[in-house]
Amino acid sequence: MYPGATCALTHRSPWELLVATILSAQCTDKRVNLVTPGLFAKYPTPADFAAVRPEALAQSIVGAARRVVSAFGGEVPKTMEELLTIPGAARKTANVVLGTAYGIAAGVVVDTHVSRIAQRLDLTQNSDPVKVEQDLMKIVPPDHWISFAHQIILHGRALCVARAPRCKECGLNDLCYAKDKTV
Ligand code: SF4
Repeated sequence: MYPGATCALTHRSPWELLVATILSAQCTDKRVNLVTPGLFAKYPTPADFAAVRPEALAQSIVGAARRVVSAFGGEVPKTMEELLTIPGAARKTANVVLGTAYGIAAGVVVDTHVSRIAQRLDLTQNSDPVKVEQDLMKIVPPDHWISFAHQIILHGRALCVARAPRCKECGLNDLCYAKDKTV
């Protein structure tokens, strides 16, 4: 249903993707994409962000920039362990950066869409994102971890929306036993 699904956040580097992903916790991806070009024109590098007073900008981004500069020489690290030491980056953000910017499948991105749809499709009985991710990692083959999340997120936006999913149009209708199905 979603061939070629990819990350909706505009970015030119792992750092830009990290910032966009942190911002996406606050608003829609569309809104993030409107804001980031101006932001990166004003602050081109992590060191530029690190020098900003946190009050003048999202605190988590300044904190992330300072960590990237002080601990990783201005380069966004490539391991889950290191990424989790960056303020504002939990497993979801780390998985987005590793998967989309570096092509490293360390886990499965679990955002609100993935969590909801994994539950609707009986791929998990959990709602805690870390547990949902563990369940998905057992079911989804590792070479699909990155694309799976992109596809499910698109599905969550297009059809399997939070309220009143559009089940009539959904190709998974025959396989889905979600309690809140609309058909
Ligand atoms: S049938 Fe409905 S609830 Fe099930 S996956 Fe499709 S849109 Fe979502």
